[in-house]
Amino acid sequence: MPRRRPGALRAELALPQAMYTGAGHCGGFQPPRPWPTRIDRLSSRTVAAIHREECRRPYDEGLWPGATATALATCRSFLTLPGRWLYLRRDYCGCEQCDLRNDIAVARDLLELVVHRLPPWPRRELEALLAGLDEELWRRTVPDPFAHRQPHRRGAWWRRRLYDLDHLL
Ligand SMILES: [Zn+2]
Repeated sequence: MPRRRPGALRAELALPQAMYTGAGHCGGFQPPRPWPTRIDRLSSRTVAAIHREECRRPYDEGLWPGATATALATCRSFLTLPGRWLYLRRDYCGCEQCDLRNDIAVARDLLELVVHRLPPWPRRELEALLAGLDEELWRRTVPDPFAHRQPHRRGAWWRRRLYDLDHLL
């Protein structure tokens, strides 16, 4: 178990227990505290709408406080990598938190989940942001012709781009 600061205990007890699953095996995930008030290039109104969605859903519906900011940061850092072509990556750990920070397909899935849960105006703003990210992601990644053989990679197009799996060997 990660050591906890004494003052943090009350706040942690108030949060869903599921938020701490996985803390033992991937470096002690903690939800950002305080939760991010600025997310990428979004307006404060859209950030507030995102936080409402993140906080009102049970954890097992795939959203938690700070998840959207983490997913956007994953996309940004992936797209700043050098080179004409980018290959998707997975993490050794395989838990939800590490996947979101390392696998851009997982991050993009989460953003898709968020965008469809937002009210119309914040949704349009996030959609516009995602359109720019998608354009670059599409242009700099490579289609994987064999992705359809893996059932978990059906769905959105970003699940069917080529992975670099060499680093897992
Ligand atoms: Zn992990």
